[in-house]
Amino acid sequence: MKEIKELIKIAIDNKKNSYSPYSKFRVSSVVLTKNGNIYKGVNIENAAYSVTLCAERSALSSAISEGDRDIDTIVITGDSDLTFPCGTCRQFMSEFLDDDSKIVIANSVDDYKVYGISDFLPYNFSKKDLEDK
Ligand SMILES: [Zn+2]
Repeated sequence: MKEIKELIKIAIDNKKNSYSPYSKFRVSSVVLTKNGNIYKGVNIENAAYSVTLCAERSALSSAISEGDRDIDTIVITGDSDLTFPCGTCRQFMSEFLDDDSKIVIANSVDDYKVYGISDFLPYNFSKKDLEDK
């Protein structure tokens, strides 16, 4: 559990990099890959709101862009007690997280919950559906 607390500290510190001039709602995410690399992401808003990028997809995109696709843990923290991923991020995460990947929703190093992707997106549409054809 020490490792999770370290990831939460990094995520909370990283909230300062959020670009959220419109909502003023900062979100930060940290991805730990199975080979030990850490990738950070923040929400990145846009004057055209629909172009806004969430912190989870930002962090995962950094990992994927480096060819680092085996996700061990993703930490999500925001400016509310517990900030849960939106529907788009749940689908995005389901592409890269496996059944034993951990999703940590954190308020602080002492206040967090750990989930799996099936908790957030049961019966999801996935690459398995396309492979069956
Ligand atoms: Zn999202």
